[in-house]
Amino acid sequence: MKKFINGKIYKNDETSEILVENGKIVELGKNLKDVDEIIDLGGKLVCPPFVDSHLHLDYVYTLSEMAETGAKSGTLFEAIELWPKYKESMMTRESVKRLAKKGIMDELKHGVQYIKTHVDVTDPNFTGLKAMLELREELKDKVYIQIVSFPQNGMYTYKGGVDLVEEGLKMGADSVGGIPHYEPAREFGEKSIHDIVKLAMKYDKLIDVHCDETDDPQSRFVELLNALVLMEDYGTRTTASHTCSFGSDNDSYAYRMIDLFKKSKMNFTSLPTENVYLQGRQDTYPKRRGLTRVKEFIENGINVAFGQDSINDPWYPAGNGNHMIILDHGIHLAQIMSAEDMERNLDLITYNGAKCLNIQDEYGIEVGRAANFIVLDEYSPAEAIRNRSDVLMSVRNGEFLFKRKPVEYEVELDLGR
Ligand SMILES: [Zn+2]
Repeated sequence: MKKFINGKIYKNDETSEILVENGKIVELGKNLKDVDEIIDLGGKLVCPPFVDSHLHLDYVYTLSEMAETGAKSGTLFEAIELWPKYKESMMTRESVKRLAKKGIMDELKHGVQYIKTHVDVTDPNFTGLKAMLELREELKDKVYIQIVSFPQNGMYTYKGGVDLVEEGLKMGADSVGGIPHYEPAREFGEKSIHDIVKLAMKYDKLIDVHCDETDDPQSRFVELLNALVLMEDYGTRTTASHTCSFGSDNDSYAYRMIDLFKKSKMNFTSLPTENVYLQGRQDTYPKRRGLTRVKEFIENGINVAFGQDSINDPWYPAGNGNHMIILDHGIHLAQIMSAEDMERNLDLITYNGAKCLNIQDEYGIEVGRAANFIVLDEYSPAEAIRNRSDVLMSVRNGEFLFKRKPVEYEVELDLGR
């Protein structure tokens, strides 16, 4: 048994001690019984591990690898065009595992313990998927990985695309993916949404669709996705990722849809750093932000989380797995920084993400659940966000994944009295 004491538990003022036995939380509270091993958290902020609800682990660090093949583009569609060339000529199961591990390392050292990764299955050899299925198993003690069978190049841009998505599910992916706005005609986008929902129900899988990742307000596949999962009562197991065009829709349409989103209880993932970089490219000025209506979702009780999306791939050269950076960008872009917002904004990279992975029943600092949590180098949520706080320790099943010291100066800055 071990006891973590003197922690400031996020959203729980009644608790400062966590008692752990066999990797599980057995008691929470104050002045709990004495045990042999006591770890003092120094009054710092303790919260559940960060959740990355949207990442492309089979692409991470491929931008550096692709440099030789001439990928110098900054736009989404050009990058997607270049991707097959790389896949054919350079991608192997070993290369995917090697680079994905690097990306997982980035995420874990910034406090993430749960990752939902979209894996491209438009390769009939399933190189990326096979690599990711192996990594999911090999690293399961250190990180929970959820895999989406994702047709990067669409299901109907060539023959047999939908079969590859289905095969990915049979091979062990957890979730059905799609990219309706990239299909060659609106009808095919709609057809893909129908197929995604059918496949999810046939194989009892989750759904996560790259949905309307464009500024074109006529891209409204989220409407059909929402209607189908509402009808099938499948909303809590469904996530619409990106929904950028919803930020460009007119208000009367948006308010009607928000009402319907509330009914279906569908989840949303917004990728603020990636989409502010990729969207608005055809705009001159004013330039759109490319974000969905995050603030309105929160105000209406619709679940929305922030994710990383990319780390150094053809779509996005930056990214380092630090979700405090993503959160900082996201709350600026979505304009959510009132005192009340700041008290709960960490939800966007913790609890809300867990709902997008549909793991909310096993996630969080509660008695009976796995002793998984992180300690931030600040004393309050608002200060942690303002300072993009470092993660001092990450505890998984009661053991340290890592533990480090706060920054120490050799020479202290002194401005006098
Ligand atoms: Zn994505």
